[in-house]
Amino acid sequence: MSKVAFDVNDSEQLQRCAPGATHLEHHSYPTTEKELGGGLKIRRALPLAKRRLIGPFCFLDHFGPLPLAPVDRGMDVAAHPHIGLQTVTWLVEGRILHRDSLDSEQLIAPGQLNVMTAGRGISHSEETPDQYEGMLHGVQLWVALPDASRDCEPAFEHHATLPVLDHDGLEVHLVTGEALGVTSPSTTYSEQVSMEILAPEAGSHRLALDERFEHGIVVLEGRFTNEDGEVIEIGTLYYMSPGHDAFHFKSEGPVRLFMVGGPQFGEEILMFWNFVGRTRDEIVQASEEWNAGDARFGEVGGYARGRLTAPEVGPIRPSHAG
Ligand code: MN
Repeated sequence: MSKVAFDVNDSEQLQRCAPGATHLEHHSYPTTEKELGGGLKIRRALPLAKRRLIGPFCFLDHFGPLPLAPVDRGMDVAAHPHIGLQTVTWLVEGRILHRDSLDSEQLIAPGQLNVMTAGRGISHSEETPDQYEGMLHGVQLWVALPDASRDCEPAFEHHATLPVLDHDGLEVHLVTGEALGVTSPSTTYSEQVSMEILAPEAGSHRLALDERFEHGIVVLEGRFTNEDGEVIEIGTLYYMSPGHDAFHFKSEGPVRLFMVGGPQFGEEILMFWNFVGRTRDEIVQASEEWNAGDARFGEVGGYARGRLTAPEVGPIRPSHAG
């Protein structure tokens, strides 16, 4: 039996995040790994010290897989606020129950999409449903909102079905944005793509890319070999700069990948805890308003296990992008 105090959003340092690559390159970075109570592994692919942003994506966690019995609490992220971003939740296996301050209550299953637009302020909780039995495995992304949109009204949307494309034998689930001439129904505020890519069999594979985009890839299941013969496994962020018109990879068996991309984000952002902003003052203000119970962030109805507290905002750390 395990009680997993699960918090995907635990960055308590104020991080300056600037766009990175300036020339044609690809590069592998080890993700930041944690093992939380109950054996739940989190691999954080963004932000990393040397790679903060890929397109508008500023946060990418791969969690699980973890088998859960009905007595296990599983995921349990108590009520917490966000500003300046969209959260994107995508499951390979399992169920997550989302509740937010707009009175949304939404169970998500594999193949479905939850997108929450924080805008000027929202709060939510995420948890494994009571008595759930099975695996917990998925990704959570944050998409930074561009300056012109980041104070928008908060919103939540659920998509029960998404485009599934057959691309030269690859099964592509388009999650957000646009790829291969198809557009996801999810609301976006800047050009981007996120998608799950399944190569069901061993072989040489090719995925056409928008060469204006930079891309990042994490392995969810299996492994692949890149054009240089480098083996890329779970626990690695594989980065491709703008200028690539295709992603070529080989696999010796089935491999499941998650890819994010977009034009390099033309703005420097500040990340702290669950907030994305531009100035330290606005981050401090959001933290203080959340901790004071200000109406800006509303209340998460129906969630019984309290709320997280924003930590004290420290000094700004320099960017190590590049
Ligand atoms: Mn959250």
